[in-house]
Amino acid sequence: MSETDGNDVIMTAEKVSKIFLVGAGVRAVDDLSMQVREEEFLLVTGPSGCGKSTLLSLLGGLDRPTYGEVTLRQQKYSDLNENGLAQLRRTEIGFVFQFFNLLNDLTAKENVQLPMRLIGKELDFMQERSEMLLSQVGLQDRMDHYPFELSGGEQQRVAVARALANEPAVVLADEPTGNLDSRNSAEVMNMFTRLNRETGQTFVVVSHDETAIDYASRILHMRDGAIEKVEEG
Ligand code: ADP
Ligand code: MG
Repeated sequence: MSETDGNDVIMTAEKVSKIFLVGAGVRAVDDLSMQVREEEFLLVTGPSGCGKSTLLSLLGGLDRPTYGEVTLRQQKYSDLNENGLAQLRRTEIGFVFQFFNLLNDLTAKENVQLPMRLIGKELDFMQERSEMLLSQVGLQDRMDHYPFELSGGEQQRVAVARALANEPAVVLADEPTGNLDSRNSAEVMNMFTRLNRETGQTFVVVSHDETAIDYASRILHMRDGAIEKVEEG
């Protein structure tokens, strides 16, 4: 941990609602307020359909709330146009998804370099950093493999290395172990806690898997689009 006491707020949702205009309207997130603290490992859990993925999309600026405000380091998303929000996603947020979302015709190393390419980093820098990140997730021997040559667990580790590429303020992971067996799930969750501890990287992980609770420093339980309770780890 750095000089911060771990209680500084990095990200906020203030009275956020997301209403999908289907049928009578689905209130996926309902007047929800929450904070993400600097350097924490926050788990968002709750039953299927309670709004976890929707909340994560709002925090990541992948979607805009119907009402309310999301901020990252006091930057209001509503003050950003689409380009500004895309730039914020590329530089400040790392995304990890259930189905890995690697590009199949790029090697592990090239997948990790992609976010850096998008913001115009130099080739030498990208080479060095992608190798460092893949070593950090234990894939130093798999750097030139294509996704189809890797196991699910290995693919997810590449995705984690990719999420870290541009030193994001926050890594957001949506059901990152949802497509992995229990051994690989434990490996990915252990990797998150290690990176959180060693680098102070802030993580917000969505999971409906009860075993994920053991890894988090704070747990936010959701129900019907709202926060039911918050547990300090
Ligand atoms: P969770 O991730 O907790 O399973 P979601 O955030 O995916 O829940 O979904 C919350 C609610 O919003 C569900 O009732 C779901 O059907 C609905 N929902 C999610 N995305 C959409 C969408 N794009 N269009 C309409 N309804 C949606
Ligand atoms: Mg979901």
